[in-house]
Amino acid sequence: MPDRPARILILSGPTREYIDPVRYISNASSGRQGLALAEEALERGFEVEMIQGPVELDVPDSIQVTPVETSSEMHEKALARHAFCDVLIGAAAVSDFRPRETSTKKKKRGQELWSLELEPTTDILRDLAKRKGLRVHVGFALETDQARENGMRKLIEKKLDWIVVNSPEAIGASEGEYELLGAGGSKIHVGRASKRELAARLLDQVTKSLEEVCYGRSGSEEN
Ligand code: C5P
Repeated sequence: MPDRPARILILSGPTREYIDPVRYISNASSGRQGLALAEEALERGFEVEMIQGPVELDVPDSIQVTPVETSSEMHEKALARHAFCDVLIGAAAVSDFRPRETSTKKKKRGQELWSLELEPTTDILRDLAKRKGLRVHVGFALETDQARENGMRKLIEKKLDWIVVNSPEAIGASEGEYELLGAGGSKIHVGRASKRELAARLLDQVTKSLEEVCYGRSGSEEN
């Protein structure tokens, strides 16, 4: 571990991608998994920082929170804060698409069909992978089918150390069904667990990965 409290940056909650000043597309996310991770990390002595999409949650004062709305704001703030963290956890339900154009005026009700053109947003974890350095990166994969295969693919594509595979029943619920996949090939079946229990199991593994990384850091200082 570093010779100071390890710093963890958690991306949490949904994002909102505006169609016009009052309408947006978003993902179902309560932000409770991100908060459970933040609280568990705080209890374990981490310095905790969150970049959080719009949620209705009380966050402890000792957690530094940067509120954001859109995926591009989350991306921008994550880029600014990533350099200062030892661990990054992407627990946010970032919108994968946004309207290609945002109207400055509210669209009036009418009888005609209305098609929206959507463009992909930047994959924040994938982008931050380019500057991973000696950090531990963790992501989540919410899968409806071929969960392990899809989780494994995302683990590799986003250069993650760990990915939590879960199913859509976990959205807004107090419990979910989880499996942790590690970059070294580990598969840890967590099974049914609360968000806080999952946070504890994940942070056990993150701490081990961080110790390995720190060993790498001191090794590279000697060379
Ligand atoms: O959407 P997807 O299943 O690829 O999400 C997997 C992981 O990537 C999650 O941890 C999510 O927070 C992250 N992600 C991201 N930026 C996006 C989409 C997803 O960081 N635009």
